[in-house]
Amino acid sequence: MRIGFLGLGQMGAAIAQHLVGKGHDLAVWNRSADKARPFAERGAAVAASPRDAAARSDVVFTMLADDAALKAVVMGKDGLAAGLAKNAVHVSLSTIAVATGDELADLHAHNGQRFISAPVFGRPDVAAAGALSIVVGGDPACLDELRPVFALFGKRVFHIGARPSSANLVKLCGNFAILSAVETMGEAMALAEKGGVPKAKVLEVMTGTLFDAPVYRNYGAMLVEDRYRPAGFAAPLGLKDMRLVGQAAETNRVAMPFLSVLRDHLLETIAKEGEDIDWAAIGLTIAKNSGIG
Ligand code: NAP
Repeated sequence: MRIGFLGLGQMGAAIAQHLVGKGHDLAVWNRSADKARPFAERGAAVAASPRDAAARSDVVFTMLADDAALKAVVMGKDGLAAGLAKNAVHVSLSTIAVATGDELADLHAHNGQRFISAPVFGRPDVAAAGALSIVVGGDPACLDELRPVFALFGKRVFHIGARPSSANLVKLCGNFAILSAVETMGEAMALAEKGGVPKAKVLEVMTGTLFDAPVYRNYGAMLVEDRYRPAGFAAPLGLKDMRLVGQAAETNRVAMPFLSVLRDHLLETIAKEGEDIDWAAIGLTIAKNSGIG
């Protein structure tokens, strides 16, 4: 298969490395060209533009930061959509708005191209291990064609529905739930610490009893160790996601009062700690607001 990959940031690079040397023709592109160099050294072609990458490919993956970046790369004279052949596939892996998923589905359908939205669960270390969970929206027959490629970097694939943006909605629900778990752990740990019990003890009991799940084990360890830099998932991207959750909540007329708490704690964390901190550092903000640290 001829594969294009656009966006070699933390997640994109970790995913794209699994596509090198697997018998596929790979063409990569990144806005900052230096990130494409390691792929060129391993035999991938470096495309001159998103359009060039798309013209060389049957399937093009995008893993860009946000909606604006994705639209900039897809649309326009040198964009992906201008280069992609009829019936070729664009697979968007980014966490984006439901409305953007719908917009891209319309654009590609208009061009006779196919579109799959496939946001992922798992941080860069999980991507590097080839163990992402991939949440897919789009035509099931198209998904079946892509399964061998998804298997190179994902351990589970969930098909949500034929509408591509259905996957974006599920991804946003998931990120809301993850940050909610971090918030409750942060508050519980602050309470324990203020009361004279080490936060590690709270985590030990929680994960040893009712909360034995990856979100508590992995994020809980970050909170216990105050491990927020380098950021695996940068707080500004988390803020973007909470904004997108809010947009979906407004569209669907769903009150989500806890969302406001999460959003404000992320904003406060970014304001006080800087842009380069992990989103889990809302735990640090909660602790500091309690007079700890
Ligand atoms: P990242 O390391 O910041 O990478 C962002 C990528 O987007 C880079 O390739 C960057 O190019 C590119 N980009 C940004 N603005 C652009 C623009 N205007 N035009 C063209 N390219 C642009 O972010 P990441 O952590 O890989 O996240 C990527 C996506 O995955 C996001 O949607 C995020 O929400 C989602 N996600 C992240 C995680 C995680 O744990 N990190 C997990 C699941 C999903 P440059 O290199 O030139 O800056």
